[in-house]
Amino acid sequence: MTQGSHITETPEAQGREIILTGIAASPGICIGKAYLVDKEGVEVVGRYSIAPEHVKKEVKRFKAAVKKARDELRAIIENTPEDFLTPTSILETQEVLLKDKMLYGKTIDTIQSESVNAEWALKKVATAAREAFQAMSDSYIKERATDIAHLTERIMQNLVGAVRVDIGKIDKRVILVAPDLSPAETSQIQLERIKGFVTDKGGKASHTGILARSLEIPAVLGLKDATAQIKNDDLMIVDGSAGVVILDPGEQMLVDYEERRIQYEEHQAAISRRSQDLAKTLDGQRLAVLGNIERSGQVVSVLGYGGEGIGLYRTEFQYMGRKDFPTEEELYDKYADVIEVMAPRPVTFRTLDINGDKYITASTIHEEANPALGLRGIRYCLQRPEVFRTQLRAILRAAVLGNTSVMFPMVSTLRELRAAKQAVQEAAESLAQDKLAYNDRIQIGVLVEVPSAVMMADVLAEEVDFFSVGTNDLIQYTLAIDRGNEKVAHLFRPLDPAILRMLKHLTDVAKQKNIPVFICGEMASYPIHTPILMGMGMSGLSVNPQSIPVVKQMIGSIRQQETAALVEEALNLQSAEKVFQLLQSTYGDTLEAIDQHK
Ligand code: PEP
Ligand code: MG
Repeated sequence: MTQGSHITETPEAQGREIILTGIAASPGICIGKAYLVDKEGVEVVGRYSIAPEHVKKEVKRFKAAVKKARDELRAIIENTPEDFLTPTSILETQEVLLKDKMLYGKTIDTIQSESVNAEWALKKVATAAREAFQAMSDSYIKERATDIAHLTERIMQNLVGAVRVDIGKIDKRVILVAPDLSPAETSQIQLERIKGFVTDKGGKASHTGILARSLEIPAVLGLKDATAQIKNDDLMIVDGSAGVVILDPGEQMLVDYEERRIQYEEHQAAISRRSQDLAKTLDGQRLAVLGNIERSGQVVSVLGYGGEGIGLYRTEFQYMGRKDFPTEEELYDKYADVIEVMAPRPVTFRTLDINGDKYITASTIHEEANPALGLRGIRYCLQRPEVFRTQLRAILRAAVLGNTSVMFPMVSTLRELRAAKQAVQEAAESLAQDKLAYNDRIQIGVLVEVPSAVMMADVLAEEVDFFSVGTNDLIQYTLAIDRGNEKVAHLFRPLDPAILRMLKHLTDVAKQKNIPVFICGEMASYPIHTPILMGMGMSGLSVNPQSIPVVKQMIGSIRQQETAALVEEALNLQSAEKVFQLLQSTYGDTLEAIDQHK
């Protein structure tokens, strides 16, 4: 895995030919022109001069954008139900900052004294203010830097409103370059248009990274200053397997990469063709390989790659990119499609997992100081019973059509699990009252992704039919590593002994309690982890669709008999590096043969 970001000028540089290194977030190669978008999909507006007679008008334009921001904030504050745990004070602080001399007054001064456009003046003043706040030792004041950033973003959106870019509507074949892309924005990407994307921020385990892999778009994240280095229309190569971006490539470089791109695509096609058979080890042990999806249409890719079912349907993406909640009928239509196409193969629905790093516009709960520890996943659904009921009713109705399971995200206590199960029962009762066809004889599971759920696994196991491990969050919460933060991405290690011990504890408990354990976190998508996961006794691996062939190939190259001893040995090691070395020394040749493309 490539970490951090640095810039190298190639020795044989022709023209600029600059190499930027970031995090290899989604494999594949693309070559194309850069298309810069600022945060929240706002096209970057540079500095331009304002004629003296138009300065007054420019100040007026700025004031109007501020007023609009104030109205928006007021509306959010007023629409936030009191019983929500939202720290409204953050919004109120932002409201006060709007009138503050430091931001408001100074931006107007800058427009007037430098005769520049409002966007430029605001950017300049906000950057200085943010830096001043960040330099303070008082942590409360320091945090105001974030408020300034949010506010600036809001005002900026109002200023450039007319040219706001809807990522879903970009109609050129381009490579997106952005400071950050949210999962909601990434999910709007039109696959036939966007060739790839690169961002300053983000890590491999972020939902943006996961989505890029799932949608098979080459991506390099966490480049730190890509948006400063790259200009609109720059020709560039994105090598998502190596985590490298080449700006202004010379002719030879272009020829080399075009060849590599073709080879990569041929390789993908070849391994998919071989991937339709069920996965079995050399000594005859079967292990199910399923696919993770975010959009209903991805079932086609899961089947194309030989997936044996859907082990994780991230249902929240259907709620993104729209202002209202989807209706029961809309949800039912998509769910019915997925179940019907997959039948008789199983489909596991993960109920709505919003907040954390995935916001939906229909929810007003955007302002949490620590969203990953906030009103996320099942916590949100239990506070919005009507939203939860609509989804559960749609699932139970669609479950008539095939093999369906449901699991709840972010369960941290038995109480939450019981409340969620109760909601399923109530949804079934309401369907019975409405005389609608439904099936409530479905499997119910916990998505184990919070350390407390691992520690309470024996208790939770009594109440469910299966566990599925969400290692993306389990690693985040166990090792205290923000999964989307490029600065700590190198510390996000699935092979950390703390994680291995958690997984072993969970699989041991599940065995005792006689329930299956699946794994649907990204850890399962990398063939280097397959022997360990098999040795722990996982019942099935649910992976990114494009990883299905390589994982199946890995299963076909190992012996189940040797994996238990491997787990024993790994559990005695003290660091992720040592475990990695053990796996490399045992399976290095096999992995090379599979050519995992990271
Ligand atoms: C996980 O946390 O590992 C998981 C499967 O869910 P998500 O990545 O959507 O949070
Ligand atoms: Mg999760």
